[in-house]
Amino acid sequence: MLEEMPRINASSIATQPTSEPTFPPLVDSFGRTHESLRVSVTDACNIRCRYCMPESVLGFLPQHRLLSFDAIARVVSVMVQAGVRKVRLTGGEPLMRPKLELLVEKLRGLSGLDQIAMTTNAMMLAEKIHALEAAGLTHINISLDTLREEAFKAISRREGLDSVLEGIDAAVSSKLQVRLNALLLRELNFQDCIPLVEFARERNLFIRFIEFMPLDADRQWSQNQVVSGEEVRKHLEEHFGSLHAIERKDSAQPSSDFGFEDGKGGVGFIDPVSKPFCQACNRLRLTADGKLRNCLFGKQEWDVKSACDSNASDQVIYDIAAECTRNKYASHGIAHVDFKPPQRAMYQIGG
Ligand code: SAM
Ligand code: SF4
Repeated sequence: MLEEMPRINASSIATQPTSEPTFPPLVDSFGRTHESLRVSVTDACNIRCRYCMPESVLGFLPQHRLLSFDAIARVVSVMVQAGVRKVRLTGGEPLMRPKLELLVEKLRGLSGLDQIAMTTNAMMLAEKIHALEAAGLTHINISLDTLREEAFKAISRREGLDSVLEGIDAAVSSKLQVRLNALLLRELNFQDCIPLVEFARERNLFIRFIEFMPLDADRQWSQNQVVSGEEVRKHLEEHFGSLHAIERKDSAQPSSDFGFEDGKGGVGFIDPVSKPFCQACNRLRLTADGKLRNCLFGKQEWDVKSACDSNASDQVIYDIAAECTRNKYASHGIAHVDFKPPQRAMYQIGG
């Protein structure tokens, strides 16, 4: 019985790590068990990718509206007690949040958490990688859409490809598991897919292509701009020869992965638009302002910041997470005629 289970106060996470879940798993009404949490630590970013942010932003969240590192660690601790095994730090650009390594260190104290990952544009990674690695970060996904400065400027509306490449070098020299993520827009960088794969293979890295989703702040998404994973795969096979499918180790993994004959690197396709993978989704999201979401495209959010601010019990935080999970829809519904994108854009939710 839940009432008889010992509670671990999340404020003492550093000294009392949990080894077994002490709350029931986060299962939705379709039987999906949630073991992965994306944590956005900021909505701020140093570039302005046109598929994500507006060109100019009136203002990012002020400090007092951000969930503090202690509050994030508290929420994650409760979720880990309910079976969450993976956390991915994201944003906005997570490295815009000062001293992110202090959060990583707090999360490392949570036993039961197998992965502390981060997704970054890598512009500030070279200077941060050692601190993050020492703090306990385990995995890093780096977004890289092109190797051409001109295309980088057209996509991100800023300069800085050199610092991204420096960040990638630094990550490759670390012990972290590194992957690249690329988003192709038909008119801007479809032509970059082959050089990007060559770049990844030279470094023995996996690169995954993510389909453009209707989550851009400018609301310019159109099906015409989406390059499907299938199309990219065919294009790559014409150049590199046939790719062989790699069996999924984790059924909730969003990408379909492929290997090359010579075994160097690998390529994956994340196809939320052309081949939605909602039936295996095991992810929840925590926004930088402390709202829990059960889907990128969800219209509803559950406020955990207020619970943290009022020092509510772990049970209260768990109940909010369980309620959020129970209300998850079967699928994101992008293909539905009535589909409307969520109010918040990708950088405000956390990708
Ligand atoms: N700033 C970091 C970065 O870019 O890696 C982390 C946050 S960003 C929102 C996370 C990922 O979301 C990036 O790989 C980016 O390409 C992807 N993304 C952003 N907008 C998207 C969209 N409209 N559709 C699909 N993926 C998107
Ligand atoms: Fe910033 Fe990442 Fe969005 Fe690009 S995708 S604008 S790097 S948050």
